[in-house]
Amino acid sequence: MISVFGCGYVGLTTAACLADMGHAVIGVDVDEKKLNLLRRGRVPFFEPGLQDVLKRNIAEKRLSFTTKGDAAIDKSDIVMCAVATPQGKRRQADLSAVLQVAKTFALNAAKEKIFINKSTVPVGTTEIIRQTIEKKQPKPVPFTLVYHPEFLREGSALQDFFKPDRVIFGLAGPDSIALPNGVPAPDEKTKQRLRRIFKITSKTPALFTSYRNAEIIKYASNAFLATRLSFVNELAEFCEAAGGDIEDVVQGMGHDQRIGHRYMRAGIGFGGSCLPKDLQVLISSGNTLKHDFSILKAVQQVNKRQPQRLVRRMKTTLGPLRGKRVAVWGLAFKPDTDDLRDAPSIQIVEQLLRHKMRVHVYDPAATDGFKKIFGAKVSYGEDAYSVLRDADALLLLTEWPEFCKPDFAKMKRVMRRPLIVDGRNVYNPQKMAALQFQYYPVGRA
Ligand code: NAD
Repeated sequence: MISVFGCGYVGLTTAACLADMGHAVIGVDVDEKKLNLLRRGRVPFFEPGLQDVLKRNIAEKRLSFTTKGDAAIDKSDIVMCAVATPQGKRRQADLSAVLQVAKTFALNAAKEKIFINKSTVPVGTTEIIRQTIEKKQPKPVPFTLVYHPEFLREGSALQDFFKPDRVIFGLAGPDSIALPNGVPAPDEKTKQRLRRIFKITSKTPALFTSYRNAEIIKYASNAFLATRLSFVNELAEFCEAAGGDIEDVVQGMGHDQRIGHRYMRAGIGFGGSCLPKDLQVLISSGNTLKHDFSILKAVQQVNKRQPQRLVRRMKTTLGPLRGKRVAVWGLAFKPDTDDLRDAPSIQIVEQLLRHKMRVHVYDPAATDGFKKIFGAKVSYGEDAYSVLRDADALLLLTEWPEFCKPDFAKMKRVMRRPLIVDGRNVYNPQKMAALQFQYYPVGRA
């Protein structure tokens, strides 16, 4: 039996997919309302394919849900932690939920079990988890502590779970600072057991390393992706000044196999629940250790100015913005998710409202979440075309497929002015010129 603490994007995907592999799984969460939905087979967020896996495994009785963490641990051989680690005070990661799960484990694991943490935690945290468990145990009981960072992407979580690019396991061992009392160094048996739990085939690169290395790998991977994106965005600014076209430039660069094409899209800056937070936490870990991450600070700065560029573009094109009507297509930080955590759309809409614009938004999945943030300050459309009515401009912020091939003739008919500020470079500038749109992409002079 496996219990998975935290039934959010990562925990629910993990629980449902492990059940689909044939394990008996209990999902544990503090949010009773969320669990009631899950028990009825409903996923409370948007993730393609997850609902089917959830329903199937509930029906086949491999997957259940509870708020009772103590009983779940008692029944389980393996306990996984996938609770949130948001940015907390002083820009450090808030570890309170992870440490709460560690305490519950300590108090309820009466015999030897494995504790696998999947939440993203800063370097040194796994040692703190070990100490917390040892301190809270009523009497010493050996346990195996593993840090198994998660790399799934919202929108393709199932594929990433079943076919990961690589898997990383941080284990107690010679590279870790200390071994838990009475726990032997990780042996082949532990590694084989982890391979069996996650059904890792010889085709998937699996790295078994120290806790600290695994912790650094997770943050460094996201910081590197963020670096690529800020690099391309800065290059896009340069292209605008120099008369270049960022799309052709990144095409040309990406064919170099050392560079590649992925994470090379210019746009409105990166957002989401991971990249901005993980970048900040890595910078903060550096500060604590008196290491100045100068590259990462620049990455952050470049990202912060991207949303402002779009609003500036609107100002130079439309003149005074007060009272003008703007339609926004796309709110989620990327397509195929409803996640709005750190979505650039929030900052952009705040700025539009500050300029007293009338803002009409539409997103295929994230509208409800946006309502919770902006309430009646903006208006919400049922479909893409309804928000265009009488609009002075369209801002395209998320490249959902339905926005990529719209009915341009219909758009022109309903908009007051055929002006598109495209934050995702989804249209062809020549075609837009031929259709007589005023079209402003990113980095394409
Ligand atoms: P989330 O906010 O979607 O879900 C967290 C869940 O944990 C919530 O349902 C919450 O109610 C529950 N929870 C909080 N305290 C709890 C407790 N004490 N016991 C049981 N449940 C509790 O978070 P997420 O996006 O799934 O992220 C989880 C972790 O995985 C974070 O550390 C995040 O950085 C990391 N991560 C996320 C992604 C992603 O794409 N979302 C990708 C890789 C890694």
